[in-house]
Amino acid sequence: MRLSRYFLPILKENPKEAEIVSHRLMLRAGMIRQQSAGIYSWLPLGKRVLDKVNRIVREEQDRTGAIEVMMPTIQSADLWMESGRYDDYGKEMLRIEDRQSRPMLYGPTNEEMITDIFRAYVRSYKALPLNLYHIQWKFRDEIRPRFGTMRSREFMMKDAYSFDIDKESAVHSYNRMFLAYLRTFHRMGLKAIPMRADTGPIGGDLSHEFIILAETGESEVFCHKDYLGFDIPGAETDFDDRAGLQSVVDKWTSLYAATSEMHDEAAFADVPDAARVSARGIEVGHIFYFGTKYSVPMKASVTGPDGKDHPVHGGSYGIGPTRLVPAIIEASHDEAGIIWPDGVAPFQVMIINMKSGDGACEAACDDLYAKLTNAGVEVLYDDTDDRAGAKFATADLIGVPRQVIVGPRGIASGEIEIKDRKTGERQTMSLESAINRLIAER
Ligand code: ATP
Ligand code: MG
Repeated sequence: MRLSRYFLPILKENPKEAEIVSHRLMLRAGMIRQQSAGIYSWLPLGKRVLDKVNRIVREEQDRTGAIEVMMPTIQSADLWMESGRYDDYGKEMLRIEDRQSRPMLYGPTNEEMITDIFRAYVRSYKALPLNLYHIQWKFRDEIRPRFGTMRSREFMMKDAYSFDIDKESAVHSYNRMFLAYLRTFHRMGLKAIPMRADTGPIGGDLSHEFIILAETGESEVFCHKDYLGFDIPGAETDFDDRAGLQSVVDKWTSLYAATSEMHDEAAFADVPDAARVSARGIEVGHIFYFGTKYSVPMKASVTGPDGKDHPVHGGSYGIGPTRLVPAIIEASHDEAGIIWPDGVAPFQVMIINMKSGDGACEAACDDLYAKLTNAGVEVLYDDTDDRAGAKFATADLIGVPRQVIVGPRGIASGEIEIKDRKTGERQTMSLESAINRLIAER
C-alpha cells in the first residue's frame, strides 16, 4: 500500500477525551472513530489489525474442531422469554420494536439462539460433541462505556457454544476451549492468565476469565507470579486427548489466580510473599460450563446410547476482539507509539523514503515495494512529500514491526537501513540482502 493513496488520518495532537494510552494511540494512529457514545467505526489501519486478531481467533477455534457459523445481531425477544433471561438481563439489553410491534433486541450474547438452532436439528448423541461459534457484533448498553473500544457498547465477540451428552464430556469441551484460549492470546504476544471467575448472568458452576495484567485494567486480580512463565501448549496438541488436555488445565489451575469477586484472602496469604501478584487486569476472554441451564427450559435434548432423552450439557466461550486490540497496545507500546507484535501487525514492513523527489531513492523504494509486495509481504510505503522526521514519527506511531529506511547517502553505495521498531536496533545492508531478509522473515 502506498501511503499517498491510503486513508490514514493521523492526529498530531493528543486527543483530550482519551484517558488511557491505548485509546490515545488508537485515535492518534487513525484506527478508530467514535460515532456516538461507545460506538465506533474501524478505519483502515484499525480494520487490518482487527482482521488479524480475528484470523488468529478463528484458526485456534478451528484447530479444536469448533465450527464457524454466523448468527444475526437482531434477535426475537421470544427466545429470551423462553429461557427466562428477557426480564433478568436488565437495561444492558437494547430492546427494539419492529413495525409489527414485535419485541426484538440487539443480541448481547447468543445462548438462546444457538440452543434454538441446536434443538431444531440435533436428535441423537451421535452428533455430539458439537461446538459452534461465530464472530459477530454484540450490543450491551453499558452504564459507563469508556477507554475507546476497551469497553464499548457495540463490540465484537467471538462466542462459541458447546453441546455434550453429559458433564464429563462437557468438561472436555471446556478444556478444549481453555487450551485454545492459551494459544490464541499467546499468538497475539499476550500473557493471559486464566482466573477463577464469577459466572454472572450466564450462570453455571465452572468458569475462568482470561486476564492480561495491565495498570489500566478495570479488574482487580490476584495470582501467583509463576503463571507468567508457564509453557503454552503447542500447535501439535491433540484436542481429542482427554487426559492430556486435563493435565494442561490442571497445571494452569494449580496455583492461585482469582478476580476480586472470587478472591480468597486466606488462600492468597498462603502464596509465598515473593510470588504474590496483586495487580490490575483486562478481561479478554471468559469461558463457562453451565450444564443444562438453557437446555432444560428450552427443551434441547438428545437420545442417548440408553435410548432415553437427555438434556444437553452446554458451555459458552467468549473472546472480545475489539477489546483485544487496545489490550495488545496497553501491553506493547513506548513513548513514540504502538509496537505491534508480528502476529497482529497491520503491515509487516514500512518503507520510508527519506527524500521524496530524489530519483535514486524513489527507484530503490519502488523496487523494494514491488519485490516485497509480489512475494506476499504486507508493505506500507511512505511515498508522501513529508519531511523525513515526520515520516519517522508516523512510522513509530503506527508501530509496523520493521522499517526500511532509504536515504540518498546510503543509496549512493547501494545500501539501506532496517530498523526494528521494538528494539530500535538498526542494521545497514545492501538493497538485495534487505529484500531477501524481509521475504524470509515474512
Ligand atoms: P466485563 O466484565 O468486562 O463487562 P463481561 O464479563 O460482561 O465483561 P462476557 O459476557 O464474559 O463479558 O463477554 C465475553 C468477552 O467479550 C469478554 O471477555 C470481553 O473480552 C468482551 N467484552 C464484554 N463486554 C465488552 C465491552 N463492553 N466492550 C468490549 N468488549 C467486551
Ligand atoms: Mg466476563
